[in-house]
Amino acid sequence: MPTLDKKKSAAASAKSKLKKVLGNVAKITAKDGVKIKNAAKNGVANGVRAAGKAVAKAAGKAATAVKAAAGKRVYFFGGGKAEGNKEMKNLLGGKGANLAEMANIGLPVPPGFTITTEVCTEFYANGKKLPKQLDADLRANIARMEKQVGAKFGDPSNPLLVSVRSGARASMPGMMDTILNLGLNDSTAAGLAEKSGNERFAYDSYRRFIAMYGDVVLGLKPEKKEDHDPFDEILAAKKKARGVKLDSDLPADALKELVTEFKQEIKSRLGIEFPTDPYEQLAGAIKAVFQSWQNDRANLYRRLNNIPVEWGTAVNVQAMVFGNKGADSATGVCFTRDPASGENEFYGEFLVNAQGEDVVAGIRTPQKIEELGKVLPVAYKELLDIRKKLEKHYKDMQDIEFTIENGKLYMLQCRNGKRTGFAGVRIAVEMVEEKLIPKEEALRRVEPEALNQLLRPVFLPSAKKAAVEEGRLLAKGLPAGPGAATGKVVFFADEAEALAAKGETNLILCRHETSPEDIRGMNASLGFMTAFGGMTSHAALVARQMGKVCIVGCDALSFDYHARVMRVTTAKGEVTIKEGDWISIDGFAGEVIQGRVETTPSEVIRVLIEKNLDPKEAPVYQTYAKLMTWADGARKLRVRANADQPDQAIASVAFGAEGIGLCRTEHMFFGEDKIGPMREMIVAENEADRRKALDKLLPLQREDFRGIFKAMAGRPVTIRTLDPPLHEFLPHDEAGVKDLAAATGKTVEEIHACIEELKESNPMLGHRGCRLGITYPEITEMQARAIFEAAVDLAEEGEKVYPEIMIPLVGIKKELDLQADLVRKTAAAVFAERGKKVSYTVGTMIEVPRAAMTAGEIAQTAEFFSFGTNDLTQTTYGLSRDDVPRVLAAYLQHDIYPGDPFVSIDRKGVGGLMKMAVAAGRAEKPKLKIGICGEHGGDPSSVEFCHEIGLDYVSCSPYRLPIARLAAAQAALKAT
Ligand code: PEP
Ligand code: MG
Repeated sequence: MPTLDKKKSAAASAKSKLKKVLGNVAKITAKDGVKIKNAAKNGVANGVRAAGKAVAKAAGKAATAVKAAAGKRVYFFGGGKAEGNKEMKNLLGGKGANLAEMANIGLPVPPGFTITTEVCTEFYANGKKLPKQLDADLRANIARMEKQVGAKFGDPSNPLLVSVRSGARASMPGMMDTILNLGLNDSTAAGLAEKSGNERFAYDSYRRFIAMYGDVVLGLKPEKKEDHDPFDEILAAKKKARGVKLDSDLPADALKELVTEFKQEIKSRLGIEFPTDPYEQLAGAIKAVFQSWQNDRANLYRRLNNIPVEWGTAVNVQAMVFGNKGADSATGVCFTRDPASGENEFYGEFLVNAQGEDVVAGIRTPQKIEELGKVLPVAYKELLDIRKKLEKHYKDMQDIEFTIENGKLYMLQCRNGKRTGFAGVRIAVEMVEEKLIPKEEALRRVEPEALNQLLRPVFLPSAKKAAVEEGRLLAKGLPAGPGAATGKVVFFADEAEALAAKGETNLILCRHETSPEDIRGMNASLGFMTAFGGMTSHAALVARQMGKVCIVGCDALSFDYHARVMRVTTAKGEVTIKEGDWISIDGFAGEVIQGRVETTPSEVIRVLIEKNLDPKEAPVYQTYAKLMTWADGARKLRVRANADQPDQAIASVAFGAEGIGLCRTEHMFFGEDKIGPMREMIVAENEADRRKALDKLLPLQREDFRGIFKAMAGRPVTIRTLDPPLHEFLPHDEAGVKDLAAATGKTVEEIHACIEELKESNPMLGHRGCRLGITYPEITEMQARAIFEAAVDLAEEGEKVYPEIMIPLVGIKKELDLQADLVRKTAAAVFAERGKKVSYTVGTMIEVPRAAMTAGEIAQTAEFFSFGTNDLTQTTYGLSRDDVPRVLAAYLQHDIYPGDPFVSIDRKGVGGLMKMAVAAGRAEKPKLKIGICGEHGGDPSSVEFCHEIGLDYVSCSPYRLPIARLAAAQAALKAT
């Protein structure tokens, strides 16, 4: 295995920090492309992608600076000033721009220079050759470094050594190459030994340089994937021969031998001599770094993070400083605040007498940063001052790398630090309180999706890490419902329900797919997971609505319901999970873990929903609440919830809902006692029988609406009439068929025949939506009656109610006319019977392209529109929302889709139809209220789009409301 020791670079130590501190994010830094892809798929990369975008935006601002400087290839920094600055990320890359900035503000930065990203473009345009004129620039700038350092490049008596590092505009941790200790050859190594009085240090640096250069520049790598790294093999043999365990135990003479052996290996395997001329070494290293911009892992990372290949990377050449020169030298990485919790506490680690990669390699356990105060107090004090200065200057949490050489502190890197959702919110809010940034900036800075972390139970990071290390990570699917759940596997919804009734609270429902029939079992489980289905599949949207942990489309799973087992195909073979076995699902990452993993509950949920925690005792809640108040002050869009049960309505209000944007009445029919009469209604052969069944349903529905209206206390409640195909309600098993036969007086055969008759080829495009209400008007009539009777009941009790009745799947004005007429007639009848009226409106969903195209006509009848973007996406693309996973991976890979169109609105196609519908609808009725209730209503980018096209509100699952509130605020701030 190639050891980290070989990958000696600051990029590697950045890798370590991320790995240690941010856990998941480290996956993106891994070399393995598959891991990168999975991380991105799991949303882990979202933050990075967003960061990429943010950097791109900042870079855009610096475009003027870039233009002005066109032509200049090399920018010098050091000695208290620099030719570049932090605004020049386009040209100098993130690292180069920040090194320049740190030099400009007087921080101790070893001198060096940045070769611009434009030279990278020139390099590729020139057939991978460095421009001729660069050589003169290199020599001139090396001369400036020599002067500042007081050493000479290639001088045996006093050699200047340099590092050569990549640095793109957007951080691409660990993706590109780096070379350290460049400038060493036999004579300069001897000189370095002499001058430092430390032969071991000199030859340790030399052997590391040869291995790194041999790998990165000369390309001496393992030939097959099973092979070990050639330099590591020699090193391992040397340690064995010398009877030592650690590299650091090898004495100088052994390191000298390694130098010779490494060079011999290069000669025998590649047929070339190791270059001795420092300028030749430098040119080779610069080329290699430029080339690494297009290595496989960088290409993949760029594609996943929308980083254009044209950007290119800069190259930073900087005087080496050594943290491995003895007890008064050290190296470390730190964050100006804790990147996990956000606490305003200096956070980091260091190693005495070590180089950056040693912190990474884990050979020695690094010490906590505060210990540095005891070991090297002067340097530590300076570091603390720098911490303050950097935050004041950058007005954000910084991630820094430093080295102390013989007691003197040097800064090697700073950049905005990556952070967890918890840290993101806390840092943003506290920086406002510290008057470092205005509220608007805090709102802009927090990634809306990060708020998820504040709501969900999470796995204890240490417990999850241990589980993964024990090889218990089984599979990955789509992360459809965030959170962490650990529980016993159950395969059938009714059994989940029965177990829950007996007090079993830890259940994970695992199924090939779920259907509305499973709802109660889903509610009884902590979380659920399916092998099939995409991000808008039944399981996914129910999960988000209920706030359950959920993984869908996990195609490594296969089910044998008869044997009551689930098989998981893993890299190591098949794992069989039995009913009752413990399993853990991570709905943030889409990961399925065998066995138990300990979880911790969320403070915000305890305060808002469980109400078992005093807000005063809940600091995370307090920061969340502050940020939400600021967001509400900034946003123009209103927010509503998709909720169809009173408890969901109550949760929605707690999360800030200003109304219900979608109450899916079909979900109610699966409640206690309702499925029976519903089925009777479906199999009824004539209107009279149907009405009989509907009469049984009426009081039950009325009660549901009453509960919801009460919870919403006068806020608008949009209730949709029945939408899904009827056969979804029919029994799926023999027991259900028998029950239905008994209830209706039909034979089992007749029920089977009826089920057969109701089967449709494409139920999603079949007898559903308003077509149901048109073929069976008595269904709409019963629902309308239930709504208005509940509304009048409450109004009589002095409660405020505001129902909005919404007709689904309308494509033709006449469909709406018929249904609206029925609703209005029913309302009039109820008001007349009761002698009391309530205000209400009747509107429609815009969820098929024809509705969007004829929105002007439809608006003549509709009092409001609500975009059903789940169906609108499905019908615009002609792609079934449940079958999308079958094509998604390939379509993403070929860049056909930029992302899942069922997650983020396709602005051109679906969005184009929406724009047309808004314009036509408002041309007919200028004040037409328009919202969105598809799953996109909780997706930040889609929320931004909704703001841009002038919708009045977005409606989303209760648990996504905080995200929608923040996204709406960001959209409003962006527009100003
Ligand atoms: C939609 O189609 O966007 C919608 C909200 O309706 P459903 O998901 O229930 O079809
Ligand atoms: Mg729909």
